[in-house]
Amino acid sequence: MAVRPTLQLGNPLLRQAAQPIDDVRSAEVQALLADLWDTLYDFRQRHGWGRALSAPVIGVPLRAIVVDFQEQQLVLINPRFERWSREQEFVYESCITFSAIWGAVYRPTRVTVVALDADGLERRYEAAGPLARLMQHEIDHLDGLVWLDREPDLASICTTDEYRRQQDQGQIDQA
Ligand SMILES: [Zn+2]
Repeated sequence: MAVRPTLQLGNPLLRQAAQPIDDVRSAEVQALLADLWDTLYDFRQRHGWGRALSAPVIGVPLRAIVVDFQEQQLVLINPRFERWSREQEFVYESCITFSAIWGAVYRPTRVTVVALDADGLERRYEAAGPLARLMQHEIDHLDGLVWLDREPDLASICTTDEYRRQQDQGQIDQA
């Protein structure tokens, strides 16, 4: 178990499609999951935010994600979308790999995600709102995508300070 460095935008490893995991219970995959948790909690302790981490963000090209959202700890291995809502929302996001800027992107409001858990059992998640967006953001990383790729309005991009200023003034809703 170890805290691993998180990659920064521009690193080509962030742009590769990650490979499916064959054996969730292998020692290598269990060690990867432990590293993802350690790295996520270390990041959160140092920065005060961070709710999910995908393996490509620590440079490992495998389809694994950990999520810590409202006291729920989820492991998503080989996740796939089973359903998306037609309804979308346009909400600000940031990313561990380039945390200095924020931008609003369209995401389906509700998704159904099927994934294996840390024991290799298939689970189905019906997620809405922030959790749905978090899952979509992380699954994008498995496909070599970041939120900038989905940005329809470059003029909406903010620095963190400007994002906070507009939030304080009620010009943008809390993400
Ligand atoms: Zn990200």
